[in-house]
Amino acid sequence: MVTRADIGVIGGSGFYSLLDDAEEIELATPYGPPSDVVTVGRIGSRSVAFIPRHGRDHRFPPHRIPYRANLWALRSLGVRQVLAPSAVGSLRAEYGPGALVIPDQLVDRTSGRVQTYYDIDGAVHVSFADPYCPSGRATAVRTARSGGWETVDGGTLVVIEGPRFSTRAESQWYAANGWSIVGMTGFPEAILARELALCYTSLSLVTDHDAGVEAGQGVTHDEVLEFFAQNVTRMRTLVAETVEALPDERTCPCGSALDGIKLPFELP
Ligand SMILES: [Zn+2]
Repeated sequence: MVTRADIGVIGGSGFYSLLDDAEEIELATPYGPPSDVVTVGRIGSRSVAFIPRHGRDHRFPPHRIPYRANLWALRSLGVRQVLAPSAVGSLRAEYGPGALVIPDQLVDRTSGRVQTYYDIDGAVHVSFADPYCPSGRATAVRTARSGGWETVDGGTLVVIEGPRFSTRAESQWYAANGWSIVGMTGFPEAILARELALCYTSLSLVTDHDAGVEAGQGVTHDEVLEFFAQNVTRMRTLVAETVEALPDERTCPCGSALDGIKLPFELP
């Protein structure tokens, strides 16, 4: 029997322990191998495929992650809904470390990353006005709040190229635009999911204030890692509960993202 999954999780390596009856699958895609072997297992009644975004040994920095291979691999397993937990910096004093933000908008400040599957045989223009799945967002917000987690429903994630953190001036500029949080991996992950007509929901855990918000040295890598480790268990629980709460049948617009568009190749 061919292994299938209907929900995908792209996240940190703390998530392996979530999966029952886990099976590891090595997948090849037209875009090379994904970040690592894909682990497929169950959470409650749902079948879930998990990919560690940076690889198990954390070998891929944000700008080197094989984003296209990761999303393609998930879709080829049957996945149609994706949850994407990640660590972010906060641009607002009121969102401190430990806050959970479920963003509804995105600003792409990356450069030089391949951000489309459709770069041969004609253009494919998908709508990205609302980059996240409304249904996945609502489910995540509801689930987090019912677990007692202070949760921000909406906001704008700025995705920077990295691997460096923001300068103070950049951070102040992002904040002055009204944007909420800063990360390095949310793009092109979100657009590639949309290009495959997948639902995509970002679960953004604030680990620190970005450089512009507070005086001091700005964020350090050690701070981020230490804080994230402390919150891994909490995020793991949220992912597991959200997986179980996601709808069986999609009624959101994500699955229709490619309707009426002539594709240069068949999707898996
Ligand atoms: Zn959706």
